[in-house]
Amino acid sequence: MKRLMKPLVILLLAAVVSGLAGISLAQETAKAASELSVRYEELTSRDFIQAVAKSGGTCVIPVGILEKHGPHLPLGTDLLDCRELSLRAAAKEYTIVFPQYYFGQIFEAKHQPGTIAYSVRLMLDVLQETCDELARNGIKKIILVNGHGGNEQFLQYFCQVQLAVRKDYAVYLYDPSDDTSVFDALKKMRKTSLDGHAGEEETSSMLAHRPDLVHMDRANDESGEDQNRLAGLKHAYTGIWWYASQPNHYRGYGAAGTKEMGETMFNLESGVLAEMIRSVKADTKTLELQKIFFEGSDKPLETKQKN
Ligand SMILES: [Zn+2]
Repeated sequence: MKRLMKPLVILLLAAVVSGLAGISLAQETAKAASELSVRYEELTSRDFIQAVAKSGGTCVIPVGILEKHGPHLPLGTDLLDCRELSLRAAAKEYTIVFPQYYFGQIFEAKHQPGTIAYSVRLMLDVLQETCDELARNGIKKIILVNGHGGNEQFLQYFCQVQLAVRKDYAVYLYDPSDDTSVFDALKKMRKTSLDGHAGEEETSSMLAHRPDLVHMDRANDESGEDQNRLAGLKHAYTGIWWYASQPNHYRGYGAAGTKEMGETMFNLESGVLAEMIRSVKADTKTLELQKIFFEGSDKPLETKQKN
């Protein structure tokens, strides 16, 4: 009897729970459908018109990469992290978040399995054409949120070359270097000093939102030490520098990562990014100055040389 009762009770309980879940799920779905998603790919064409207006004509492109992240984190770590950050910021300050964008600079990891390293020309063209297409759809302020160290110079260069040809939109690169709030908060929590790739920080951020993809048991399988193989070189920059230091595509100690540190990072940084989005929405000066600049660059001889 007991044996029979147990499954019956479990079945009844399951029915009640799934019934309740069914109601709340239906409500959730209805609520979600009435709200404007921040995810580009989830908007209908009609919603998109509304989203462009609500976002003040802004869109965030989280830029990631496919590359090795130590022995324990997934290839898409940078994109997964910076898209999560962008989604959390967009929940605080409405903007549209572009779908998965993996087309960055990563030649330095070509010796590691799973790296997708597009050619330089393609990298520039696909980002430019993505921006052109967004602008054609009414998005005149495009925000790049970078998740990958190897993209830093590429994206700054991309912003710089926006002045080459006249355009009716502006590109802004998220640069929180003047805000030390996140750095200071993390410094107190940090257990390791060497970090930078799949180390304490990046492992923490993945633990905060995708713990299912973190293989903590493998974090010590390879060395994340700095091999410092160009120590004799002075006052010089060379492209092989990262390979010289971190040939395993691992810098730091992933095993030190914690969910708490990752959550602190996302909470604080999404606030900083939301503040940036707010300021971009309010900004009229960039487009105004670009317009004057492009007009002037068509007729340089007419640019005043005296006050
Ligand atoms: Zn990374």
